[in-house]
Amino acid sequence: MSLFEDIPVDVGIIYEGERIRGREMQVELGGPREEYKFELVQAKELDEIEDEKVTIIGNDLPDIPEGTNVPFGMIIEVGGVEVEKDLEGVIERRLHEYVNFIEGFMHLNQRYDIQMRISKKSYQKGFNSFKIFAKVLFRLYKSEMTFIEKMQITFITDPEKVKEMYPETLEIYEARDAKARGMSDDDVDVFYGCSLCQSFAPTHLCVITPQRYANCGAISWFDGKATAKVDPKGPIFEIPKGALIDGLTGEYEGVNRIIREKSLGEIERVQLYTGFGYPHTSCGCFEACAFYIPEVDGYGVVHRNYREKTVNGLDFVTISDLTAGGRQVDGFHGLSIEYMRSPKFMQADGGWDRFVWMPEDIIERIKDYMPPEIIPKIATEKNVSSLDDLKTWLREKNHPIVNTWKPEEEKKPKPVAQQQVMQQQMPMAGFTVPSLELPASMVPMVGLPQGVNVKIILKNVKIKAEKVIIRAEKE
Ligand code: SF4
Repeated sequence: MSLFEDIPVDVGIIYEGERIRGREMQVELGGPREEYKFELVQAKELDEIEDEKVTIIGNDLPDIPEGTNVPFGMIIEVGGVEVEKDLEGVIERRLHEYVNFIEGFMHLNQRYDIQMRISKKSYQKGFNSFKIFAKVLFRLYKSEMTFIEKMQITFITDPEKVKEMYPETLEIYEARDAKARGMSDDDVDVFYGCSLCQSFAPTHLCVITPQRYANCGAISWFDGKATAKVDPKGPIFEIPKGALIDGLTGEYEGVNRIIREKSLGEIERVQLYTGFGYPHTSCGCFEACAFYIPEVDGYGVVHRNYREKTVNGLDFVTISDLTAGGRQVDGFHGLSIEYMRSPKFMQADGGWDRFVWMPEDIIERIKDYMPPEIIPKIATEKNVSSLDDLKTWLREKNHPIVNTWKPEEEKKPKPVAQQQVMQQQMPMAGFTVPSLELPASMVPMVGLPQGVNVKIILKNVKIKAEKVIIRAEKE
């Protein structure tokens, strides 16, 4: 008998990557419209757990109006002789995989950022209670992570209760993250790799080091260590660092070898502390994105919960699309908030001296780990709303980036460099028309000098042109 014969929908790896759009969803649990949401795994003593007990605080699925979203909390308590605190983060992160195995169930992000959707179709097929959801999770966890002997799950949809528990969960995540602070990548011989997101981004592999936390912000070096020990055949494994190639960029022979192997030759080299050259790849689960702003030769950062447009006029979703997919895109870099606390944070690009803009709430979260002198020089959404404002702000505050500007860079933006970056952001299939002279009327619009030959690349033209890229062939 199949493990899921009594479950009204299919469960299997083929459903991973399934997307459920707003009009198809029965209900959204958490998500960007809800301030309070979390998923949390807690290791407990065996006698503290009533195996396969399900508790629902608030409404079960039939009592949530169709097409709406609700605050959501999920606490999974696990026990077993081999279960230890350091495994909590990884067991929690496996939810991303297991929930996505369920037909018509989508899970995005992690920890306090979760967004889950159940489709109308699966709901109508009978997947209509958290009790069924729990049944699937009990079976998947116990068959895949065999060191888990007992587990119980509490689902919370009562808004007041989710809100009440939220600060407590943040403290638990913070205590996990704090553990590796103070350790250095130079002190260990082994890093950890995670290939969990390869179902979404087949060439992506996270390299988790003491000073470069996983992109999703959910797995630390300690979590990797504990998991590789109890689940050696799982998606988290040891990466012997091997010889150091370059300490500034963070390039190691052993890391490159594993990356080549796991990306099937697609990615050849990875440098851990830079957003240019051979940057760490980004799947799509990153907590935040660093994005290069050519007009000021600096970086901005935007996180997943920032809803407005950033200083360059793009929002998180657009920047995230340009970054994700397991690619190495110069100047667009997925990362975790915890990595921003690392002394090696983007050190090859100039570290904090290269950062010019970010939402105020990120600064609030990490300011104790930033050089104090740079904090008042980085602009936020409260100080500037355009690139011109940003330039003025940086000059007024004497931001270190200003000293690197050449006089001609100060006078005019760098449209050519920007166009080149934009071209690298979209290596999807398209077609290229022969080189042509840009009509004189369009020249001022793209900021190119008169008489420059350009190439126009139209994307996705079978349906419609979603992007038009105008690239200078020579200045
Ligand atoms: S973002 Fe990285 S560490 Fe996190 S689950 Fe995906 S591959 Fe693993």
